[in-house]
Amino acid sequence: MQYPQPISKLIEGFMKLPGIGPKTAGRLAFFVLDMKEDDVLDFAKALVHAKRDLTYCSNCHFITDTDPCRICEDKQRDQSIICVVQDSKDVIAMEKMREYSGQYHVLHGAISPMDGIGPEDIKVPELIKRLQNDEVKEVIIATNPTIEGEATAMYISRLVKPSGMRVTRIAHGLPVGGDLEYADEVTLSKAIEGRREL
Ligand SMILES: [Zn+2]
Repeated sequence: MQYPQPISKLIEGFMKLPGIGPKTAGRLAFFVLDMKEDDVLDFAKALVHAKRDLTYCSNCHFITDTDPCRICEDKQRDQSIICVVQDSKDVIAMEKMREYSGQYHVLHGAISPMDGIGPEDIKVPELIKRLQNDEVKEVIIATNPTIEGEATAMYISRLVKPSGMRVTRIAHGLPVGGDLEYADEVTLSKAIEGRREL
């Protein structure tokens, strides 16, 4: 027995989302059918508005509804430091910490020769252009501690360091509350690398 077409359409829609298989999609679709019509309308509007009204900041490439974004617009923030991240979600994570008040640059990916992604395919040229501004004194590279993230960090560092600008990499290491014996080799070696004076 087939579902009526509006339901199977809805199920198909949910299945396009990450981590949602046919079973969960079916459950969500039937949940929507039980929702109040106003709530369904609000939800549908939120989806459309998020897609239509959001754009990327022309300066830092963070997702935003104003251009430049609120971070770039905020003159109270330190204009001399740029923290380079892979994804807009990383900016949100950094902002939650409330310790950093410099600028950001979102690469929208990482260099991955295996997948045919070179520096020109992500926002590296845009970063280099921003660094020509005399106000910038330091670049913090906060790409992920993966092979691609490390390759990207190395690439940017090699490109920028000859200009005499300070290039730093965030330390990666053991999670707080973690047990040393359960850490994998890469994490442990990064923890040793990122050690500091006590
Ligand atoms: Zn911005």
